[in-house]
Amino acid sequence: MTSDNQEPTAQSAAYPPPERLVKPEEGREKPWISSMAEYSALYNESIQQPDKFWTRTANELLTWDKPFTHVTQGSLKEGNMAWFSDGQLNISYNCVDRWAIKDPNRVAFVYEADEPGQASKVTYGELLSKVCSLANVLHSFGLRKGDTVAIYMPMIPEAAVAMLACARLGLVHTVVFAGFSSASLAERVADARCRVVITADEGLRGSRPIRTKAIVDEALKSCPEVERVLVFRRTGSEQVEFNAPRDVWWHEAVAAQRPYCSPVPVNAEDPLFLLYTSGSTGKPKGVVHTSGGYLLGAALTLKYVFDIHDGDVFCCTADIGWITGHSYVVYGPLALGSTSVVFESVPTYPDASRYWKLVEDHKITQFYTAPTAIRALRRHGDDFVTKCDLSSLRVIGSVGEPINPDAWTWYNEIVGGNRCAVVDTYWQTETGSHVITPLPGATVAKPGSATFPFFGIELAILDPTTGAELEGNDVSGVLAIKRSWPSMARTIAGDHKRFLETYLSPYPGYYFAGDGASRDADGYYWIRGRVDDVINVSGHRMSTAEVESALIGHNAVAESAVVAAPDELTGQSICAFVTLKNEFEANDKLKAELVKEVRTRIGPIATPKLLILVDELPKTRSGKIIRRILRKVVAGEADQLGDLSTLSDPSILDVLVREVSTAI
Ligand code: ATP
Ligand code: MG
Repeated sequence: MTSDNQEPTAQSAAYPPPERLVKPEEGREKPWISSMAEYSALYNESIQQPDKFWTRTANELLTWDKPFTHVTQGSLKEGNMAWFSDGQLNISYNCVDRWAIKDPNRVAFVYEADEPGQASKVTYGELLSKVCSLANVLHSFGLRKGDTVAIYMPMIPEAAVAMLACARLGLVHTVVFAGFSSASLAERVADARCRVVITADEGLRGSRPIRTKAIVDEALKSCPEVERVLVFRRTGSEQVEFNAPRDVWWHEAVAAQRPYCSPVPVNAEDPLFLLYTSGSTGKPKGVVHTSGGYLLGAALTLKYVFDIHDGDVFCCTADIGWITGHSYVVYGPLALGSTSVVFESVPTYPDASRYWKLVEDHKITQFYTAPTAIRALRRHGDDFVTKCDLSSLRVIGSVGEPINPDAWTWYNEIVGGNRCAVVDTYWQTETGSHVITPLPGATVAKPGSATFPFFGIELAILDPTTGAELEGNDVSGVLAIKRSWPSMARTIAGDHKRFLETYLSPYPGYYFAGDGASRDADGYYWIRGRVDDVINVSGHRMSTAEVESALIGHNAVAESAVVAAPDELTGQSICAFVTLKNEFEANDKLKAELVKEVRTRIGPIATPKLLILVDELPKTRSGKIIRRILRKVVAGEADQLGDLSTLSDPSILDVLVREVSTAI
């Protein structure tokens, strides 16, 4: 979905896998996949002999209580997909016991607490006891296989313990990001019909206390069906209200329980969790993930995409309230018996070098974050990065939004020191694990492209209006997937019809991702942003990602968001919102320069008709730009913004409306 004359170029700068990965130092293993030929061979097998490929990987990476005899069934057309459906396993056994039995002193979690210098470790042996004790507590509450538990906790290892304790009993968890308001929490607790909520007294972010338990109390006023609230003592604040017998202290409850609990085997297709999507596009949906296929997807992608080997320390900065935290802080790393960093703080506390100090202190080997963090830290300048020793890093990843080539290059040069592979991973809550991604030892990267499909993912680019599949290279349209894969979501909780309507009916026979994409002359995939965000100027379709990247290419720009404004003459026109790097000052000359930047980089058709310099862009609580809000504001429909529960800072709305009305 790019303007006709502006295909993302096959000629863009290309970055082969770094020497250091391809020719590892003494004692270091070579990457799991070290050439495109190896990638292609395995990819072809996954597509042409899927039963063989998935049987092997599912048996290599997971331990089954009852082996599966059939691999896959159902179809995207009918929406009845199932994987390994007669197999049984337990997710917490796979993530914890296997390693606790073999090597109890191996570190499962490195916990970097909010206050610097307070890191601690949880070994697999300790994790097993914690998970078991808590599972016994949940059992004592009367919870049984299939019941749903809400988890509303700060980024502490106990949040993962809570998830794993649920999994041990075959309970379904729904983690709600602890930055959500009481109203959003109540909505999710009610939608998921939870009878138990697991929480903490308070959270801490950048030394600021967050009154977690008080938010739960407020939420539960409208959820009378909740019988128990289990409270972990994080800060020990005395201001926390405690309503016994509903409320139970975690430390008291676990002290009464035996630290062993036998894992309950579940069917591969039994649900493991439901998770509400981040809500960039509208009312959040409770996406349901099942057990066997999901865990396989998380483990397999992590192993290959981040090239995980024994002894690695993997750090994903996402909160466990998002799918990225589920798959790549908890389930993926633990399923591989790896060490995962749990980061409680914020990237700018006490200053903008926090992430990089973290890498230095814990000798992190793979680091995974979001473009929003990369752009924010780039805004603070390079010194915060370069003063830290980042030599342990081998692979650095990005997820959540398209990463603009300039931000990619900064990440590669300044953070990666040109010595790391950069993996721009495209996936969604609904896909469970990566679907388009480079592989560090094999793929020649192009900044801004998520490159090629992961194993088992058969992609298509469809004509948005006819739904016809666009064959060959050099094509743009909507992104779709042609067959099911193990970690895909199976339904939306309580609303299978919405699941079909959103993902499977728009283009029958395909999974519709909702994103625009192109395949360039070399077969690389470029995500062009959400289909709803595409702009149509005089019949030229343009992607927001492309115009935003052009703006970010200007040295003064920190971030930008581009939306369509209604236009009498051209149907739609381009309206660009821009935030500046700290050292730049807003003025008309700079605005004119920015408009010119877009004209020269893309062409006159992409010239923003309106360019507004703002202090902040509206973002979801996971840090993604919500263009839907900007679109409404420029259309003069600020009174019809829809569901705003995921908007991180509602106070910026008034400012935006004011800024837009003075600019128009
Ligand atoms: P909602 O579905 O509720 O509107 P959301 O789509 O933001 O929210 P997520 O599942 O967290 O919820 O995000 C998936 C989306 O994020 C993708 O559909 C895509 O638009 C974007 N995305 C994720 N990773 C990438 C990437 N590497 N490149 C480009 N876009 C990405
Ligand atoms: Mg989405």
